Amino acid sequence: MFSLNDLPPLTLAKVSAIVYRAPIEVPVQTSFGLMHDRPALVVILEDYEGICAWGEIWCNFPTVGAEHRARILDTVVAPILLSKTWASPQQAFTELTQALHILGLQSGEPGPIAQVIAGVDIALWDLIGKKLQQPLWQLFNGTPTIQVYASGINPSDPEKIAQQKWAEGYRAFKLKIGFGAKRDLANLAQLRSLLGDDAPIMLDANQAWLPSEASERIQQFAVHKPFWIEEPIAADNPLSAWQELAKHSPIPLAAGENMRGLPEFSKAIDSNAFAVLQPDMGKWGGFSAGVPLAQTIVNRKKMFCPHWLGGGIGLIASMHLKASANTFGFVEVDANPNPLRELLAPQMPPMNQGKITLGSLPGLGITPDLATLKEFQVPHHL
Ligand SMILES: [Mg+2]
Repeated sequence: MFSLNDLPPLTLAKVSAIVYRAPIEVPVQTSFGLMHDRPALVVILEDYEGICAWGEIWCNFPTVGAEHRARILDTVVAPILLSKTWASPQQAFTELTQALHILGLQSGEPGPIAQVIAGVDIALWDLIGKKLQQPLWQLFNGTPTIQVYASGINPSDPEKIAQQKWAEGYRAFKLKIGFGAKRDLANLAQLRSLLGDDAPIMLDANQAWLPSEASERIQQFAVHKPFWIEEPIAADNPLSAWQELAKHSPIPLAAGENMRGLPEFSKAIDSNAFAVLQPDMGKWGGFSAGVPLAQTIVNRKKMFCPHWLGGGIGLIASMHLKASANTFGFVEVDANPNPLRELLAPQMPPMNQGKITLGSLPGLGITPDLATLKEFQVPHHL
């Protein structure tokens, strides 16, 4: 854990969750399944001075994920959070992780528990930033201008989405693949000819292939010079399989959204199989583990590109995280329609030529538009 001096103690008066589900016309496609709506699970913390702070818990899968994790927050995590005064968010992160370790093993759900702790951690740091009247990127000694890319471009008419995103100011793009070699290759070729030789085009296979087939697929894509290929094989393949793949791959390998815990990331970094590491701060780690991990990644000369595909709170949090270790690399911005992105972070700074400059508002620098969000709220209590 990193340490910052003179953090104010945190005593919480209220811990609550809100589940949102926004309907969408076109499902979000990945090689392992569809998303028929866009969920978001928001953490709200309030201290005794009446300061409100915001966090977001990853909840995309399975389809009941948001409601399930909201109940974990209400029944398991909130009572611990409310039980004492915390010297720092890191102390809360460490103690929650330790206190719920056995429950995670017993329930077979270390992931959802880690996700709830991660979302709480984001909110605790928002609270610290607000108490200190400092934006988080500044508190973490970062620099505010970050690069972004348009992510999650579906395999149906990808050129239309890419064109639209170019017009919005994006200059790097990530295509979903894993929908058959012919379709994947045709989509990539089309994007390359549309966007020109210089635009970074990333590929995301979402764990689509066996190691035995991945190598051949990667060779086929190489002619179009993708910037990276993400999760070509299942994330839980032994590192030796990733190393073997990397040895023969002309395209840099990327992964991290399905890694959890410092030991797993450390081993992945040490393996040298991954040129790009993509921790998801709403799935594990929040800022308390995410800031030092980001620093380790860049110190080890890997590219740090935080993963995020949810609502606006986690998105702006990922930007502050990237800003804390701001060497070359990109923050993922979902290209698919999702009203929860804008409504949860209405103060999101504008983009220009693929870059966003974070502002001077304290903490995360956003206040969700709760009134407009009301129509998307769904109950999660019994
Ligand atoms: Mg991915």
